[in-house]
Amino acid sequence: CGIVGVVGNSETTDILLNGLEKLEYRGYDSAGIYVNNQKGQDFLIKEVGKISELEKAVTPDVQGLTGIGHTRWATHGPATIDNAHPHFSADHRFYLVHNGVITNYNELKEEYLKDVDFKSQTDTEVAVQLISHFANEGMNGEAAFRKALGLIEGSYAFAMVDKEEADKIFVAKSKSPLLIGLGDGFNVICSDAMAMLDRTHEFVEIHDGEVVILEKNKVSISKIDGTPVERGSYTVNIDA
Ligand code: GLU
Repeated sequence: CGIVGVVGNSETTDILLNGLEKLEYRGYDSAGIYVNNQKGQDFLIKEVGKISELEKAVTPDVQGLTGIGHTRWATHGPATIDNAHPHFSADHRFYLVHNGVITNYNELKEEYLKDVDFKSQTDTEVAVQLISHFANEGMNGEAAFRKALGLIEGSYAFAMVDKEEADKIFVAKSKSPLLIGLGDGFNVICSDAMAMLDRTHEFVEIHDGEVVILEKNKVSISKIDGTPVERGSYTVNIDA
């Protein structure tokens, strides 16, 4: 239901949790965050119920420079911790949050993922296991992400972290909202500008069928096939 993400900011955990609080009004049944310190240490915390429950589960050592967060409105699989996002690949390399519904998840599972031991009942886990499947065939994380996007049908806003390139967030959308927010020495993503207005007022649109790679000082937008896209930012003149 809601997505937040940040790269390049030492207050990553606070930015994610505050952002998720701002998205609470949209409704949700569970929530989770993934935080990576870009030095090989990472944290995954998920809870059923309120963001306040998630906050209680987040210990002070959960600190990092890259993170993604999610509030879930369950469509596939009940509201349980295992079904809450972020979801991860079997080798714990890729972490992914998703808003929307993947309509062909059963077909993708049948065709590519027969041997995978799924941890959840969600459509979303198929996406992250599919990316991992293509990475295991030899593609880098970005190529695997693009390949999976070419096969996935339905609606999605995705934000993914690849532990092998933990200073980046890979982002894409189709028929679900997602925005880039530009910070000073960091960048964010959010499904609703409300979530980040206390950190930035400068936003960049993402269009359906685009891939965004977010880094501390860089935002690269391209089509799924790799063609570069140039797009300016706009200012949102309201306060959170
Ligand atoms: N279809 C996904 C799920 O059931 C995402 C739902 C959402 O947008 O929150 O987990």
